[in-house]
Amino acid sequence: MDDLSKRGFLAGGVSAGLLAAAPFEALAQAKAEGRKLGYAMLGLGYYATRIIMPRFAECEHARLTGLVSGTPEKLKTFGEQYGVPEKSRYSYETFDRILDDPSVDIVYVVTPNSLHRTFTERAAKAGKHVMCEKPMATSAADAQAMVRACKAAGRKLMIGYRSRFQPHNVEAIRLARSGAVGPIRTIVADHGFTAGDPNQWRLKKALSGGGSLMDIGIYSLNATRYLTGEEPVAVNALESTDRSDIRFKEVEDTIAFQLAFPSGATANCFSTYSANCNRYRVSGPKGWIDLDPATPYEGQAMRTRIGGKTETWTPPTGAKSQFAGQLDHFADCILTGREPIVPGEEGVKDMKVIEAIYRAAREGRTVKL
Ligand code: NAD
Repeated sequence: MDDLSKRGFLAGGVSAGLLAAAPFEALAQAKAEGRKLGYAMLGLGYYATRIIMPRFAECEHARLTGLVSGTPEKLKTFGEQYGVPEKSRYSYETFDRILDDPSVDIVYVVTPNSLHRTFTERAAKAGKHVMCEKPMATSAADAQAMVRACKAAGRKLMIGYRSRFQPHNVEAIRLARSGAVGPIRTIVADHGFTAGDPNQWRLKKALSGGGSLMDIGIYSLNATRYLTGEEPVAVNALESTDRSDIRFKEVEDTIAFQLAFPSGATANCFSTYSANCNRYRVSGPKGWIDLDPATPYEGQAMRTRIGGKTETWTPPTGAKSQFAGQLDHFADCILTGREPIVPGEEGVKDMKVIEAIYRAAREGRTVKL
């Protein structure tokens, strides 16, 4: 069997994508052979082209094999740069033909938020597994529909929560959940950046679904959930937005929120489009774990104070980047039949809390979950 037909056997379904249904032995063999799964990037904006695409070079199980964009020049430029052949370059109109493209196993959706649902559903219908950026959707109902669509198609769905593959965050999770600081009592998490261009999609509610909370505050929320390993049971929130600022006609600027967890841990979080901040601290009776910055693309710094000793933690040299870690994890899950650590359901959980935060701010009361 030549490489192409092997690929067709392993990745081909009705016409393209038996992978999810392939017997474990076939997948294990593909992994043993070091075969990389093919990703098609959908939405060739900043994050896809500047941050993610260069990282395929680092991947063990993933490679870039397809492109989807509304801009023909981008398809040409990036197609040539990354060696993606013309037959695997799609417009949003021709995208559904990806069904017949055995070189693509996974579609990575990196468009404005309100388009995540429709592209995820189309990709699943075309027999592809789906990686989707955060926030997963603009409502919990849409997020749940995406999970259903992928399940109905027998395809896997993962959300681009890259911090779960970032070494400092992975170590913070291990320490926090090991009881190193004692039972977690408080988490403080602040995330924000200054939103510039008033015409960007992030400030248009129909495309973004909301303001800073959907975009950057979700890092504070997601961190409280991954550090505690618990789901919040009650939410308070206070919004502060200058509606005379042209940037904030449709979406919120700053929103502060508090979360209560079943163990008694509480979190105090900030989300803003008016200040640059990116950090969290987990505290308990025995000490604290501090990441500042916590979730940027690079440059994380971690200090701990445990048993009266303050230390700086650095990852082992050569640790894989969070981006390659994320891309490889999903490919590996597909090759081994495992569920990703951040499946669609993880995105649904964040969306439900985000809706509760907005409701608590709007109604000026504690919302129970
Ligand atoms: P961007 O504006 O740079 O890119 C968006 C892309 O979508 C552009 O190529 C644009 O042409 C395309 N697009 C398709 N339909 C569109 C429409 N109707 N209106 C506007 N653009 C349209 O944005 P980005 O920063 O790359 O963000 C894209 C997604 O990635 C968002 O969901 C965002 O939350 C997520 N993101 C995640 C991270 C992360 O660290 N995980 C970082 C940045 C962005």
